[in-house]
Amino acid sequence: MKQLPLALLAFSLLLLFPSCRHSGKEAVGEPLPVRGLAIEAPKPDGLDPFLTFIEEELVPAHFNLLILRVDWNYAYETHPELRDPNPLTRDDVKRIVALCRQHGIRLVPQINLLGHQSWAKQTHALLREYPQFDENPSVKTENYTEWPNPDRLYCKSYCPLHPEVHDVVFAVVDEVCDAFEADAFHAGMDEVFYLGEAECPRCHDKDKADLFAGEVTRIHDHAHRRSHHRHWRVGSQFQRHLAGHRPYPPGRVHLRLAL
Ligand SMILES: [Zn+2]
Repeated sequence: MKQLPLALLAFSLLLLFPSCRHSGKEAVGEPLPVRGLAIEAPKPDGLDPFLTFIEEELVPAHFNLLILRVDWNYAYETHPELRDPNPLTRDDVKRIVALCRQHGIRLVPQINLLGHQSWAKQTHALLREYPQFDENPSVKTENYTEWPNPDRLYCKSYCPLHPEVHDVVFAVVDEVCDAFEADAFHAGMDEVFYLGEAECPRCHDKDKADLFAGEVTRIHDHAHRRSHHRHWRVGSQFQRHLAGHRPYPPGRVHLRLAL
């Protein structure tokens, strides 16, 4: 979804302002209890325009929730090797925090977990620095061609059963939540195309539904232990037949949601 920020914005606005579906001329009704926008966090050189966007667009429209997909666009101290080039600094984040607090907007940082560890030919920071976490390392992102392709490469996943992956992932989750002074965390987890792959020595004989549910539960349990933030995620993986997986039987996916 990285390539569709404007479409995402439009979709979000349609969800938030249902009257717009019927006529663009109708006035927005009474504010809904939650008016939220999920969008990619700005780079430092886009921070000032982004703050202006909050003040001039979100505040007048009564938004009270802003989910920012940060991923590796932060100057992590716990794992500096995972920083994107020229990431947001802690001071940058504090400017967003202060403005949102001033206007009563709840900030929720997002790091895409499990899936979305690559996009097209680019391998993102986690698997670039820790290739041993790759669920199916035989598939090379540099060989990516347009979707669909023989490798079924849409975006890569980390192995949810690798014994060291959560030490790394949870350290940056905790750090980004602290920086954003957040009481909730968004884990993404949409578009998990690789899971329980045949070449993974840990996952190959596991049920995909159990693997997905196990990762959701593990992230939730961590968030719960931290107690200062809750765990949100995209719900698309619960849709039937998505990504060629067999349906996740509702009875098999035991989730303890913290919404
Ligand atoms: Zn695995």
